[in-house]
Amino acid sequence: QTKNLTDIEIANNADIQPIDVIAESAGIPEDALEPYGRFKAKIDPLKITGTSKGKVVLVTAISPTPAGEGKSTVTVGLADALKRLNQKVMVALREPSLGPVMGIKGGATGGGYAQVLPMDEINLHFTGDFHAITSANNALSAFIDNHIHQGNELNIDPRRIIWKRVLDLNDRALRKVIVGLGGPVQGMPREDGFDITVASEIMAIFCLATSLQDLKERLSSILIGYTFDKEPVFVRDLGVEGALTLLLKDAIKPNLVQTMEGTPAIVHGGPFANIAHGCNSIMATQTARKLADIVVTEAGFGADLGAEKFMNIKARKGQFSPDAVVVVATIRALKMHGGVQKTDLAKENVNALQTGIVNLEKHIDTVRTFGVEPVVALNRFITDTEAEINFIMNWAEEHNIRIARTNVWEEGGLGGLELAQNVIEILDQDQNFAPLYELTESIEQKVTTIVQKVYGGLGVQFTDKAKKQIAQIEQFGWDLLPVCMAKTQYSLSDQPNLIGRPEGFTITVREVIPKLGAGFIVCLTGDIMTMPGLPKNPAALRMDVDENGNAVGLF
Ligand code: ADP
Repeated sequence: QTKNLTDIEIANNADIQPIDVIAESAGIPEDALEPYGRFKAKIDPLKITGTSKGKVVLVTAISPTPAGEGKSTVTVGLADALKRLNQKVMVALREPSLGPVMGIKGGATGGGYAQVLPMDEINLHFTGDFHAITSANNALSAFIDNHIHQGNELNIDPRRIIWKRVLDLNDRALRKVIVGLGGPVQGMPREDGFDITVASEIMAIFCLATSLQDLKERLSSILIGYTFDKEPVFVRDLGVEGALTLLLKDAIKPNLVQTMEGTPAIVHGGPFANIAHGCNSIMATQTARKLADIVVTEAGFGADLGAEKFMNIKARKGQFSPDAVVVVATIRALKMHGGVQKTDLAKENVNALQTGIVNLEKHIDTVRTFGVEPVVALNRFITDTEAEINFIMNWAEEHNIRIARTNVWEEGGLGGLELAQNVIEILDQDQNFAPLYELTESIEQKVTTIVQKVYGGLGVQFTDKAKKQIAQIEQFGWDLLPVCMAKTQYSLSDQPNLIGRPEGFTITVREVIPKLGAGFIVCLTGDIMTMPGLPKNPAALRMDVDENGNAVGLF
């Protein structure tokens, strides 16, 4: 039956409970709940008492391929399985971005019988958080341009503004633009550009802030550019941090929804893991940890991206550690890492699986390097054959790796019991989590550590431009921050076509950008773009709405 229904059809047919029922089951007091319609609500974190002591299960994956891995699906299914085992559990996911929803992903709320609801609303405008973040970002752009237009008291050099406008869409035509054309009353012409909202510093700040006060302090510390004398200019110099915080005051409250099995789920914040830090908000995670004994959360793309940043950036800032890590893998994707074309994936191919499994092996090594015990969730597809499954189960046993066959897409929580048992066993053990580098190390040293220990590369090359930028960052004393690598998700290297477990490569850092509000230094590698484009046949071509107002074509 699953085989014939799409994700949105399954979601539309599901039983959905009123959000106050879910809130009550999660122990959320009535006065902390701010309903947005019948099935969504904001939670006022100030009204949730207690300490954040729930254990954190991080779900990550192998390097993604066009075959799909199912990280969100497994995250949701694992939580439902833990609930079936009588655990007090919550899910903490990221909010989907309209860029990939309209582009290649078509939705990001899990799949099959492991989804969060209401699926269409979460994938579209949800509770308006991304709108608020986009507005705050672009308000700042408007304040900057207006300041220059009104006499430029701060002496801002329009050529040295690093703050960009954003939009939550994939729109390559906006990557580079000229603003202020049309004569003196339209402002000062200057080169500008658009990033996607999920790559914006305000999104990162939103996700790393620990309170409203912290949010405001971080917003005030945003570096917007430099003066004609090359002195830094911050948001606080413009005096607009209060207005920006005001625009975000409701968005910052975590959103409560539910899984298809009625497990409470918080969906809040959504930076991409390739061009940003890839984790949901600290406020959501910490709120969930007050309410539940186990919080299942996910970080974007492979363990080289989202999980690395979860460990080195989010966990460090939030002062918590992951207590267990799930690495999602599929036989299909591992066969692609072994060289099989997408069109040939339905054919059994144990040799390709054997070649491609090195990608999984590397990500497991990485998780262990952080001192946490991983378990592999083998996300089952109907095309997997007995021989292929036997191969991977034997491989795991030989290499002393925990693995659990996972069938949550088809069976919901029931298909995740083996995984849930493994997770509970790991949670009962002590882990030795530690970030991989100290903040006092140089930027070069931090990047080199990530490249060698997480990507498995030889080392790093910095372009002349990047070297100059690092020198400037050091001169201003901003180098004591973690680094946020911007790198392709498809390869452990910075070249998307180097699949599997490449060796002997170096990474090129071409630009180094201080994000002082977020509190990290972004390092752009390879050809990575902070405003993605749409594919030739975007998912949008299959989308529609029927005469009853139901969404069609989300998946
Ligand atoms: P990720 O979080 O890794 O990007 P998702 O969980 O969003 O992946 O899943 C991507 C797509 O793959 C969804 O449309 C989902 O329905 C589908 N999918 C996931 N797991 C399976 C599976 N085991 N069988 C079939 N389709 C699946």
